[in-house]
Amino acid sequence: MPQLTLHTSTLFDAKQKKFVKDISVTVDTDTGLITKVYARKDTKTPFPETLPEGDIDLRGKYVMPGFVDAHTHIFLHSYDEASAVQQKRDESMTERIIRAVNHCRTALLAGYTTYRDLGSESMQEADANVRDAIARGLIPGPRLFVATRVLASSGAYESRTENSMGGHCLPAGADAVDGVEEIRKAVRRRIAAGADVIKFFADYRRRIMRSPPAQQHPYIPSVLNPPKEPNPDYVVFSQEEMDMIVSEAKLARCPVVAHCCTLEGAMAAIKAGVHTIEHVYGVTDEMFELMKEKNVIMVPTLGIAEKIHTARMPTILANTKRAHEMGVRLACGGDTGTFRHGDNAREMELMVEAGIPIEDVLEACSVGGWESCGGDLCGRRFGWLEEATQADIVALNTDPREDKGALRKVDFVMKDAKVWKLDGQAIGMI
Ligand SMILES: [Zn+2]
Repeated sequence: MPQLTLHTSTLFDAKQKKFVKDISVTVDTDTGLITKVYARKDTKTPFPETLPEGDIDLRGKYVMPGFVDAHTHIFLHSYDEASAVQQKRDESMTERIIRAVNHCRTALLAGYTTYRDLGSESMQEADANVRDAIARGLIPGPRLFVATRVLASSGAYESRTENSMGGHCLPAGADAVDGVEEIRKAVRRRIAAGADVIKFFADYRRRIMRSPPAQQHPYIPSVLNPPKEPNPDYVVFSQEEMDMIVSEAKLARCPVVAHCCTLEGAMAAIKAGVHTIEHVYGVTDEMFELMKEKNVIMVPTLGIAEKIHTARMPTILANTKRAHEMGVRLACGGDTGTFRHGDNAREMELMVEAGIPIEDVLEACSVGGWESCGGDLCGRRFGWLEEATQADIVALNTDPREDKGALRKVDFVMKDAKVWKLDGQAIGMI
């Protein structure tokens, strides 16, 4: 039977940003798409005691589109366990791929049916291969949109050592390119290598990046009297270089993502016309206005921010709320991988803590996620439930409007009309 129907009593309509009653959703397991969404009249026609074979009763649950994490790294595990440099330097490629397989399964069971995976972190184009393995049904996991290697300028994003005798011996973190023509080629290389999105660093910590873990975090453990800001973020590409990244990617209808921790970097990336900006720790109202004008999506990565910018969190949360109030488009992406895959919902919880209504947060983690993948440019529709969208559906045990922990209580997961979790238990993952 290729068709089956899910029956719900409370369903989140992501387009209308509201919960609606007594809706049933029919899906086609051959195509992976939704074929029909209809309202029942349970008061007039009582709900049948026995359902047709294959139908699933989700009444009493809180049903919604599968979640989209708009900023992840499948090859990273929590920085609490090992710094990024240690992972890149010390773990074998085999270990990192096996970890990624585990991360993908965990993410799917947490209700995340799509990952926008923003950089393979020294794993070259292996993210595109994992994407394809999932799409071919070899392993369970979210639908991946990948960046492969991230573009940065020379010296901008790389692991370094103070031992310069042997030259570079640490794995390259990015595709280092300089100058407009080299960048044109690099974008073409990325697209040919399987990138669904092009990511670049607009700014990064450029100076003291030696002695891990100083490469990732702005402190120097072994310096006696470090300056107040030992390793500030500075812009790494010129405006012309950023403009080239965007215009070249446009030829391949490929969305562009910019890592921006400074206002200067963010403004240049927005002017270049990127699709989304990530982190976004330096903001002004003028910047938010420009983002609206240029339809740039903000992915505030609150999940990682609370780990490494703990003291700045009140400001970062206030900035996120301000962006939302001003009408800036938000998507939910935690920089997941730098903290545990499976804890993805932390990003939504922090948006709620920032004071953004839960309905808007759920919409940012579904429709907003789809838009961050490029919207129709990505070749599929997901993030809301209507005919011809992907049948990506999750159900929570409790009401997220009332229970702060509801987003972690995922009872049911369907992706592409295939059930991966039922009654809180993983199924089909032998
Ligand atoms: Zn990231």
